[in-house]
Amino acid sequence: MIEPSKVKDAFNSIEVENYAFRAYLKNHADENKLDEQFLKLHKELFESYDCSQCRNCCKAYSASFEKYELGQVSAFLKMSENDFIKKYVNEEYGDYQLNVKPCCFLKEDGGCAIETCKPNSCRDYPYTDKPERLFSLLSIVQSTSICPIVFEMFERLKGEYKFNRK
Ligand code: SF4
Ligand code: SF4
Repeated sequence: MIEPSKVKDAFNSIEVENYAFRAYLKNHADENKLDEQFLKLHKELFESYDCSQCRNCCKAYSASFEKYELGQVSAFLKMSENDFIKKYVNEEYGDYQLNVKPCCFLKEDGGCAIETCKPNSCRDYPYTDKPERLFSLLSIVQSTSICPIVFEMFERLKGEYKFNRK
């Protein structure tokens, strides 16, 4: 598995290839089979991986909250929801995004200060165990520039599809 600090450079060297593989999958992959392949790789690769030693996603993305999650996290932090929004959130068209990157709840040891009530956007990333991956391949390619697991998944899928690397 590639080291978290090396993912960006590794992606840059194969960016064109990854977008070409995305196009290949779009044209050739069966939707259900691809979901099964992602799910299998997701389980296999995350099973023994310690995300606290990486946290690239917490540094690269802004966590986003559903309205009901704002209440949970503000209560956890013993703040009013309004104060939490004023201090931490950008609201646009009903979308609540953390206003700071890297995430201010990321601890030095790689833990999450709001672990028990972190939003689903954090829990679910990188979404590779969700259905309909064929229609989310652009964001998956973007994740190959951030997440070592997704980078590895894409490399293994290229092998499974016998993708002709340029
Ligand atoms: S809330 Fe926690 S899991 Fe989500 S980005 Fe911040 S540190 Fe990472
Ligand atoms: S989900 Fe991916 S990017 Fe986020 S901490 Fe885990 S391995 Fe790293």
